[in-house]
Amino acid sequence: MQKLSRRGFIKLATASAISTPLILNASPNQTPKINFDEIYDVIVVGSGISGHICATYLAKNKLNVLMIEKMDRIGGNSALSQQDFAVMGSDLQKKENIQDSVELFLKDLNKVGQGYNHKEQSLRLAKHSNEAYEFAKSCGIKYSDKLKFLGGHSVPRTIQTIGGGGQAIQTIHQTFLKEGGKFKKETKCDEILKNEQGEVIGIKVRENYRFNRELKNDDRENTSGNAKTYQARLAVVFATGGFSKDVEYRSIANPRLKLAYTPSNLGQTAGALKIMAKAGGNPVQTALSRFSFGIPTEDLIYGIIVDDRSQRFLNEDGDRQVLSNKILSHMDTINTTNYPIVIFDSNGFANSHDPRRMNSFITSSKMHKFQTLEELSKYFDLNLETLKQTIAKYEEGLKNNKDEFGKDLSKSKNSGINKAPFYAMKAAPSLSYTPGGIFIDTNMKVLSLQDNTPIPNLYAIGEATGGVHGASRLTSCSIPDCMTSGLLCAKNIINEKKI
Ligand SMILES: Cc1cc2nc3c(=O)[nH]c(=O)nc-3n(C[C@H](O)[C@H](O)[C@H](O)COP(=O)(O)OP(=O)(O)OC[C@H]3O[C@@H](n4cnc5c(N)ncnc54)[C@H](O)[C@@H]3O)c2cc1C
Repeated sequence: MQKLSRRGFIKLATASAISTPLILNASPNQTPKINFDEIYDVIVVGSGISGHICATYLAKNKLNVLMIEKMDRIGGNSALSQQDFAVMGSDLQKKENIQDSVELFLKDLNKVGQGYNHKEQSLRLAKHSNEAYEFAKSCGIKYSDKLKFLGGHSVPRTIQTIGGGGQAIQTIHQTFLKEGGKFKKETKCDEILKNEQGEVIGIKVRENYRFNRELKNDDRENTSGNAKTYQARLAVVFATGGFSKDVEYRSIANPRLKLAYTPSNLGQTAGALKIMAKAGGNPVQTALSRFSFGIPTEDLIYGIIVDDRSQRFLNEDGDRQVLSNKILSHMDTINTTNYPIVIFDSNGFANSHDPRRMNSFITSSKMHKFQTLEELSKYFDLNLETLKQTIAKYEEGLKNNKDEFGKDLSKSKNSGINKAPFYAMKAAPSLSYTPGGIFIDTNMKVLSLQDNTPIPNLYAIGEATGGVHGASRLTSCSIPDCMTSGLLCAKNIINEKKI
């Protein structure tokens, strides 16, 4: 890639929409030319928080940036998320005099990663989280002045986004546009284009693409839209998120994931990962998962979980990964697609570590309240007689202090299922995050599967990448990953291209 001064770039960039012939994967005898429809300095594919942070930093630095989004709405999973955000060394930690360090944050991340995580990436996340938080604030995103102390973190360090992810995305999107960034929705990247030196020079897209939820596999079957080619003079950045909604792909990566529920955006498919793989990238750790339940996992111990035969089958005490794997394996064994039900009585409900939050699940109709077990069994289509027998056996265990599945009943504060009202909801292992993705280096460059060297001018950030978190993911740590990778990617593009 030739080097140009910043002024040179801006001049060239403003002359966008000029057709420039470039060579695509050509041999000396065969030199197919691409007459690009549009020209930009950097193209960011995907409009979640990682893409927005990267694109906005580049736009603030006067680069000609295009961000594209395949869906008809911006924000991907970032717009659905609460965007709880773990930060080391924030103004809030200082205000509350909380002693934290990069080393402590790293220790927490590595503990959850269980040695599967690439530690240089966890270090990047921990070290630059405050820089990313400050940049997000400078883009107008608003945060609460209260810190959260979430499970798995040694100290309070999680910041809450006011208005959640939807508002954060809308705010930074306005900043991006104000800084001169260009945006196209319903524009899907189909291919990464390279020149004969193997350098990435642009992308092939379809404008006016319409995602079709009726199709079994939208990436393969959807032919909507008009093909266009865009040149990227400096870099193409994939900020395309995870693949939690892609049942076909995730079941190939790990059959256990077939039955998992996902609250993700419809567009969270593996199409972009396959495009990067086709360009030579290395998809890693795609069999890993990160589950959650609709309610805090630590509260499940105060209830019982029954399958669709109204029977218990596990010890309700366990972490999110252990319980989810047991549930999915049991559903497979008894050949059902029905998620089990967690049932609390009024004491168990009150034992929850945050009853106010439990009440909010009732308000949002995630959880339901019943005056009798008859009502409950009718609502969830359970067999009342079997359910009563299951409960009687559990109560018997409570009396004898011996649970048939080895639950530590004192830890569950001896919560029984005998005092109305009863509360119940589906205990569905929910896959809201896929830890696997394309392998990158610490400059966010996509590394080649063949020789582990960077594919020139191709970058990936956020949940699209793999290996940052490892075996699972520490709670509230995707957002700092997305933000630090997005910010550092933008800085690296600027530094490397000597703009
Ligand atoms: C309900 C929910 C709550 C969550 N809460 C938290 C939380 O509190 N804290 C936390 O740390 N994490 C949380 N997470 C996880 C976190 O929100 C995501 O990991 C993160 O937002 C991903 O951001 P991203 O920028 O990498 O990708 P996304 O935000 O998913 O954006 C990727 C975008 O790329 C688009 N795209 C994909 N392929 C193409 C293509 N070929 N062409 C054009 N566009 C394409 C997609 O349509 C999508 O809009 C939550 C997730 C969910 C689902």
